Amino acid sequence: MSPSDILDRFRHLGALLEGHFKLSSGLHSPAYLQCALVLQHPAEAERLGRQLAERLAHTRPTVVLSPALGGLIIGHEVARGLGIRAIFAERADGLLTLRRGFDLSPADRVLVVEDVVTTGGSTRETMDVATALGASVVGAAAVINRSGKENPVDAPFAALASITPPTYQPDACPLCTDGIPVVKPGSRAVR
Ligand SMILES: [Zn+2]
Repeated sequence: MSPSDILDRFRHLGALLEGHFKLSSGLHSPAYLQCALVLQHPAEAERLGRQLAERLAHTRPTVVLSPALGGLIIGHEVARGLGIRAIFAERADGLLTLRRGFDLSPADRVLVVEDVVTTGGSTRETMDVATALGASVVGAAAVINRSGKENPVDAPFAALASITPPTYQPDACPLCTDGIPVVKPGSRAVR
């Protein structure tokens, strides 16, 4: 699938909305992306995972490491495509760490996998978890790159599609100026 096919699939499944949205950050944007709405379909997740696996196979990883929660499903599917194990790092007392008996050794070649890379900060933090245990990071991957950079991390990187929708402060939002009603996606309850 080409990047535009991927984004069409996201639109079709309601995971990429276009209009006028209030994001969880409080900023306004003409686009809203929610990868989980694609990954809730196992066949979609498997297909995306297989494509990322094909793109990163040349890095010869021995294990996929994902940050919880967003990276879990796609990390698992990339690992399935590569025939290697999938583990995840999660926050404990604010620090990203391996729990549940997961371990990495200096022999491990780690591929870091996420659903969406925004600033690259979470990917880099996950890479640090691996290197702190002596493992080498051979690459990183995401379904969607919204960093605005070709490669937002310091390692071989692949994404299946890129989008960089603008964001606006509410008091400087041209969509508000045009009087377009703002929608807060993903929230069901009215508080
Ligand atoms: Zn607005």
